[in-house]
Order: sequence, then structure tokens, then C-alpha cells
Amino acid sequence: MNCILELKNVGFVYGRGTPFEKRAVDNVNLTINEGELIGVIGHTGSGKSTLMQMLNGLIRPSDGQVLLGGKDIWAEPKKIREVRFRVGMVFQYPEYQLFEETVYKDICFGPQNRGLSGKELDEAVRKAADFTGLKPELLEKSPFDLSGGEKRRAAIAGVIAMNPEVLVLDEPTAGLDPMGREVLLSQIVRYHKERHNTVLLVSHTMEDVARVADRVLVMNRGRLSMFAPTKEVFSHADELEKSGLKVPQITKIMQDLRRQGFDVPEGVLTVDEAFEVLAPILKKEGKLW
Ligand code: ADP
Repeated sequence: MNCILELKNVGFVYGRGTPFEKRAVDNVNLTINEGELIGVIGHTGSGKSTLMQMLNGLIRPSDGQVLLGGKDIWAEPKKIREVRFRVGMVFQYPEYQLFEETVYKDICFGPQNRGLSGKELDEAVRKAADFTGLKPELLEKSPFDLSGGEKRRAAIAGVIAMNPEVLVLDEPTAGLDPMGREVLLSQIVRYHKERHNTVLLVSHTMEDVARVADRVLVMNRGRLSMFAPTKEVFSHADELEKSGLKVPQITKIMQDLRRQGFDVPEGVLTVDEAFEVLAPILKKEGKLW
């Protein structure tokens, strides 16, 4: 597996030397491989956003190094713009950044800045819109005429259209209704499967992270408290609770059953998985036909 991102002793301090000095990220070491889908979780204020903003050079680490494709992104500060194309960042509520006359023009903005034009640009825009489930007829509308969920998709499409090697999504489903969340999450999974790009998904919804992530990165008070395969992270319910987090509800129920002596494995993450495990047990007990 090829490593795409590596963080070496990375730290960040806000307002250094002022009375408001605050260490937001402390000595983080990790590597992320090409094509992984990483869930990023942590209590509010644990340093997730600060960490993510260091991945594409929006902020410069106070200590340590961020390596993209084996190269320190700050080795040549003048080239930091290129890093921002290679690591695409979708912030919380990105729809507030839509500003063009049409959705099409809005999605064009990033790839055009990256140097795309003509047919190549058109293809990138349409493919990105398709990845986010945005219907083609919406491309000619004003972004302000779209629904909340459609605006969100348009904003995400604008970043995907730049074809970043790494896509960072900060709470992409926040504020959407359950159906909207579900659809957007499955579009993200499809994008990841088809493009084989690296995706980092910051989320407060443990159910979403459990369903889609290969590995989960847990932040606690600016430190990396766990970084392991998803099943392993969610089998540490006690440790997560110390970080102010919870395991998905279904995982908790299954852990309770296990404690009561039922023969169920650790780390069940989804309702479908739980059904597969429980069906034979219930059948044996004559409770399911
Ligand atoms: P999270 O994304 O996990 O909620 P953040 O990275 O936003 O965490 O914040 C980490 C810590 O840094 C928090 O204590 C927060 O108050 C502080 N912080 C975040 N942004 C700033 C800022 N611009 N100036 C000063 N402190 C900040």
C-alpha cells in the first residue's frame, strides 16, 4: 500500500505568544494510505478541524511536518496552492460559498483555477455533478434556487471536479434530513469506490462512520487517541466514552447481548450485520421463522 499522507509530530498553537494562546493539536503522528476511507471523530474542540486544515496547507503546523506523496507540503511555500488542489477540502455548510450565476459556473470555479478548460472542464463538471447525485437540469439554475440538499451537493461537486487525490469532508451531512443524509453518504461511498481516491470524513454521526470507514481516527484534547480499523475502534466503547464519544447504537446493543452471554461477535457495526448474527440465534430459539 502506498502512503499518501504522513504526519510527523504535528502540532498547532493558536495565538502563540498572546494571552489567548491555545494548543489545538499536539504531537500527532500518523500515515494514511492511498485509497483509504478514513472516519475522523472526536468531541467538539478536540482539534479535528485544525488537523484537517493542516492537511492542505490552509494553516501551517506550529511543529512537525505534513507530507503529501512523501514530500513536506511546506518545503516550497510558494507551491502551497498546488497542494490545495491535490487535497480538496469541503467545509461545514459549504453551500454558503456558492456565489456564481449558475450551478454549472460554480462547479467550474475550482477546476478552472487548476487550469482545466473546454471539453475537459465540461466533463469534469458533469462527472462531479453526477457523483453527488445532482441532476443535469439543475446545472443551469441559479444556486440560490436549489434546495438545501441540492446546494450542499453543488458545493461538494465543486471540490470533486478538481479531481483531488485526497478529499476531506467536514460534516458533509450536517443539517440534512435523514433521507438527504442517506443519499449523500451513499454518493460519497460511490465516489470513493469509483475513483479509488483517499477520503477523510469528519463526522459526529457514529452510525455513518461505522458504515463506511476503513479506519477511524479519534481525536481527544488535541491528541490522536486511537487510529485503527473501524471494528477495532468501536469495540473500545469505554475508551470512546472517555473521549466524550459513543459507539453506534446497534454496536452497543450487541455488546450488551454479548455481556449477557449471547454468542455474538464483538464489533458489530450495522443493523444488517446484527440481523445476520441474530437471525440464526432467534431461529434456534424458535423466535424467527
Ligand atoms: P473540532 O474541529 O474538533 O471541534 P477545532 O480544531 O475547531 O476542534 O478546535 C480545537 C481547539 O482550538 C478548541 O479548543 C478551539 O476552541 C480552539 N480554536 C479553534 N479555532 C481557533 C481560533 N481561530 N482561534 C483560537 N482558538 C481556536
